Amino acid sequence: MTTAPVPLNSLSRHIDPIRSELIHAASTVIESGFYILGPNVAAFEREFAAYCGTPHCVNVANGTDALELALKAVGVEPGDRVAVTANAAMYGASATYAAGAKVVFVDIEPGCGTMDPECFAAVLRDGRPLKSVIVTHLYGRMAKIDEIVSMAHAAGVMVVEDCAQAHGARLSDGRRAGSIGDAGSFSFYPTKNLGALGDGGAIVTRHEHVATRAAQLRQYGWTSKYTNEIPGGRNSRLDEIQAAMLSVMLPMLDGWNARRRDVANRYSREICNPRIEVPAVLGDQYVAHLYVVRCDSREELRAHLEANGVQSEVHYPNPDHRQPCHQGRFDSLTLAVTESDAATVLSLPCFPELTDAEVGQVVDACNSF
Ligand SMILES: *Cc1c(COP(=O)(O)O)cnc(C)c1O
Repeated sequence: MTTAPVPLNSLSRHIDPIRSELIHAASTVIESGFYILGPNVAAFEREFAAYCGTPHCVNVANGTDALELALKAVGVEPGDRVAVTANAAMYGASATYAAGAKVVFVDIEPGCGTMDPECFAAVLRDGRPLKSVIVTHLYGRMAKIDEIVSMAHAAGVMVVEDCAQAHGARLSDGRRAGSIGDAGSFSFYPTKNLGALGDGGAIVTRHEHVATRAAQLRQYGWTSKYTNEIPGGRNSRLDEIQAAMLSVMLPMLDGWNARRRDVANRYSREICNPRIEVPAVLGDQYVAHLYVVRCDSREELRAHLEANGVQSEVHYPNPDHRQPCHQGRFDSLTLAVTESDAATVLSLPCFPELTDAEVGQVVDACNSF
């Protein structure tokens, strides 16, 4: 008897139970005659700001735009230097380049994929002016954000938190991802912890001037209709239909995150194979966007999992400083932990609708490797 493979993710399972609510919300928008930046976007901005614990939220078209416009809104200008990690598919670097700024790559901490505060401190010490740092809460896990924010602010550096994999993650005192730095960026790409049925993004911030500027930048740099005052503006608006979808789903986010965390923590407790390094069992600071193990024989492990009906994926195989678009510009740069992770990380299925039996199948497949 063969059992069906355990998928890495399943959007159909995720959406199916709320299909009729989503259809109802979409048809209400269709009948309203208002399709972009209308009452549904305004309502979702209020709801998401309240959820994140920030006074302001500005919706934009996707998560990369959110990063780019957040950088510009906190004051990054062409030619400025921005510190970013190099282990997440060029998201931070792409946004930095789109803002006309220069990338300064920073290494990560072993075993967690987030920025190493020591390496960031070294960048601050190198004497060249730094305008901003993008801190990514990767795989659903909070970076050492307080430590980085206090170093950054002491040096006059603005902090943008990339929360595209960390909707709802919180520090032990309850502060949520996005509320700690000067701005937080989110993606609502369908597979994120909170995902629309298309592209979407948001910038949250505690600074009113950052919110005002972001709202101007997403609409051509208008300060009022047809008056373009702010350089760097362009079109990055959110659709009413996507905002309505997100308002339906936001109340479910904490429940989904709790189930993701249970799945991840069960893996960390039950996978006991010395060849597979598992992440620590974690609490609320972890919303298990991806469950990432490390293995020196990764390709062998992938093949073994595949043969045992378990899908897996690599997040992410090519470090940013080695991407072909850089054409060797960073050849002399070594980021030891980033490079080691790129060769060893492997993501196992982790989403709220996994059944307990499937989780057990993944554990067994890992333990029999
Ligand atoms: C998905 C993601 C982004 C980009 O979001 P898009 O909506 O796809 O542009 C940025 N940063 C991280 C960490 C992501 O996971």
